[in-house]
Amino acid sequence: MPSISLEAADEDASHRCYKYSAATRRFSIQSTDSESMLLNRKTDKPHKLGLIGLCSDENSSFLRGAAEAPSLIRGALFSDAANLWSETGIDLGRSDIFFDAGDVTPTSIKDIEDSISSLLVQNLRPLCLGGDHSITYPIIRAMARAHPALSILHFDAHPDLYHDFRSNPHSHASPFARIMEEKLVQRLVQVGIRAMNGHQREQATRFGVEVIEMKDFTDDLTLTFDTPVYISVDMDALDPAFAPGVSHREPGGLTTRQVIEIIQLIDAPVMGADIVEFNPKMDPSGMTAVVCAKVLKELAAKMLGR
Ligand code: MN
Ligand code: MN
Repeated sequence: MPSISLEAADEDASHRCYKYSAATRRFSIQSTDSESMLLNRKTDKPHKLGLIGLCSDENSSFLRGAAEAPSLIRGALFSDAANLWSETGIDLGRSDIFFDAGDVTPTSIKDIEDSISSLLVQNLRPLCLGGDHSITYPIIRAMARAHPALSILHFDAHPDLYHDFRSNPHSHASPFARIMEEKLVQRLVQVGIRAMNGHQREQATRFGVEVIEMKDFTDDLTLTFDTPVYISVDMDALDPAFAPGVSHREPGGLTTRQVIEIIQLIDAPVMGADIVEFNPKMDPSGMTAVVCAKVLKELAAKMLGR
């Protein structure tokens, strides 16, 4: 089990941050750039959110590139083009909010699970930057151990319920089949779906997935949860007009505003979240990185809510 120490982080946090080594399965202190200095600067209060990049795209079925997303999302988040306040009035630049665990290049699924567990044991709520969607299965394995009653709110154009895709059971098209088979969560609620097919519809029925297809979506949608929630945002849930930088562009999706509104209206504790499938190679304008950073800010604010 990798471990991180917040005490050590506070020792001289102004010039240091933690990097996770897949080889040793440990976080180690490294010197840091100005962005990480902001996140880890000295504070008397414990951090609340664990920010971690999971640079993995080997389970992508069509295009690689999502592994390069985390640093670009951080770049957009800390760009001088915008401030660090959420729309809901929280200053995310405060020193007691983010513990930055840096970017991990996992060599196995177990590696991802361990890195998330190491944040959870420090009472940090993980905010994970993908990577392709395959990372969500090991993240949820770790989350489910810490939160036995958990529901997932899943934004996506695709249900990602394939039993396997091209013989890969850990494909980015299959994470929610694995999660539901292992009964890791109480509910899976999917929003933005518009690429359903016969096999995945059968899987959704078999697992009792609550699918809100895009064709049935209305702006007055209210989601209610009576358990803690994990939010998984596949960036292709948004219409490619808003977020073109994804591997599988699927027209007819959600607006940025609709995604933000659904997040802001959740009335349940949000214990963790991921932003996945941003592919910088498909994002020549840099717009999608900015949308990721915007969604990150509203997710983070919601996670701090209660
Ligand atoms: Mn998708
Ligand atoms: Mn997905």
